[in-house]
Amino acid sequence: MIPVVALVGRPNVGKSTLFNRLTKTRDALVADFPGLTRDRKYGHANYADQSFILIDTGGIDGTEVGVETHMAEQSLLAIEEADVVLFMVDGRSGLMPADHLITQHLRERKKPTFVVVNKTDGLDPDVAMSDFYTLGLGEIYPIAAAHGRGVIRLLEDALLPFSESLQQRLAQESKLNEEETGISDDEILEAKLSEGLLDTTDEEPLSDDEIAKLEEQIAAGDGEEEVAFNPQTDLPIKIAIIGRPNVGKSTLTNRLLGEDRVIVFDMPGTTRDSIYIPLKKDERDYVIIDTAGVRKRGKIHETVEKFSVIKTLQAIEDSNVVLLVIDAKEGISDQDLSLLGFVLNSGRSIVIVINKWDGMSQEDREKVKEGLEARLGFVDFARIHFISALHGSGVGNLFTFVNEAYDCSTQRVSTAKLTRIMQMAIEDHQPPMIRGRRVKMKYAHAGGYNPPIVVIHGNQVNALPDSYKRYLMNYFRKSLKVMGSPIRIQFKESE
Ligand code: GDP
Ligand code: GDP
Repeated sequence: MIPVVALVGRPNVGKSTLFNRLTKTRDALVADFPGLTRDRKYGHANYADQSFILIDTGGIDGTEVGVETHMAEQSLLAIEEADVVLFMVDGRSGLMPADHLITQHLRERKKPTFVVVNKTDGLDPDVAMSDFYTLGLGEIYPIAAAHGRGVIRLLEDALLPFSESLQQRLAQESKLNEEETGISDDEILEAKLSEGLLDTTDEEPLSDDEIAKLEEQIAAGDGEEEVAFNPQTDLPIKIAIIGRPNVGKSTLTNRLLGEDRVIVFDMPGTTRDSIYIPLKKDERDYVIIDTAGVRKRGKIHETVEKFSVIKTLQAIEDSNVVLLVIDAKEGISDQDLSLLGFVLNSGRSIVIVINKWDGMSQEDREKVKEGLEARLGFVDFARIHFISALHGSGVGNLFTFVNEAYDCSTQRVSTAKLTRIMQMAIEDHQPPMIRGRRVKMKYAHAGGYNPPIVVIHGNQVNALPDSYKRYLMNYFRKSLKVMGSPIRIQFKESE
């Protein structure tokens, strides 16, 4: 399960700054669901191949009244939801009474906690940190969120228990140091810190040998790589059913499982874990990830916090295809768009399901369709499917779209074909000149599936403007006929 990291601390210590840096976005999902505060922001982040969910809380300063008290309580709830807490303090203002208050809460909840002293830019880190040892919360991490300094060391330590690859890498690094280089961990760390927050989500660039081999393959017109297994036949398709409260997720889950397989769980709405239900249909294996918790029919009792953002985000992350359920009678809300944004960010395939299509007048249906066009026009690659989970109409067909989205996102495409598509795209529309030189794209190969990743090698490719990158992405999507899945393009400098 993808870990949950909560940022807590007084207002103004720099939580949002760190949040934005780590999630690389300014428009995080602001939880504005019934029973949740407006004040918790959820974002998706990635470091060294380890995904994690980041929660930003409004802040607690101990003087809250009225609405603010509620917010402070919500910050505490975020601590509850988290696997790790980053407790942020301000190195410039030093220790404040509210820091003690938060410390007390953290102690009571016994969460793994990292004390993060922010704004240490231009300060002597030792002096900036000294104040905070008295909190007695363990190791202290000096950072400058605004510049990225110190963030890598913090992330590596905070994520270490959750990330096998990080554990392996660190073990390997320190072994190498000892045995061969004689360079201490501290020196390596220093070098990393001076580079700021590295984006390590990209793979290593290919070696010269690998590039030569690929170029040979292209010349020979044979780019089909051997793969150990075929995801289209060897793995069940994991389908996450997500959506706002009351859109019909449980009703749909029950429908998909069939009349004879209504499964009843009595789970409190705040539980973090979804239910995984295996299902076979037309010889294909699926696993339904049920975020709602299937409830006994006719016995729908609303809990205050029936909807859990964490549960939803984890289900998205763990799925292959997401069914985003939207209530036709309510129309498309900002929350639906937030959820959609999350799905697109995650790279998962998506089918948009408009539920409660029964009992609507023709006029209302037209209105809904207009709304969809206006608000969902930007995801023109996603199928929109109209159903009634209650009566079952349209539900059977859903699997067709799920299969299509999954198959599109896992298709194997040869280097030769991807390179040809890239060349056609260039012929149709030349890349711009950068610093007086034409950007040179040499070849393309597949870099992953679900979502499909196209890796383009060349010179100055990283300098391509976003508009051209988008053009390439659309060109690849159309040429490869990918429906229901985003496509990612990565660029590698060949020099
Ligand atoms: P939040 O209320 O805890 O979310 O704090 P913000 O992220 O909004 O930051 C509060 C203020 O601190 C803003 O003016 C930031 O620009 C500033 N700030 C954040 N990080 C740093 C840092 O590393 N160094 C300095 N000097 N200022 C910072
Ligand atoms: P969840 O919170 O997303 O799991 O939503 P539920 O499945 O519990 O459904 C919420 C309410 O919407 C219930 O009263 C359902 O009977 C009703 N509902 C679900 N699907 C449909 C549908 O297709 N048409 C109509 N009219 N009502 C539905």
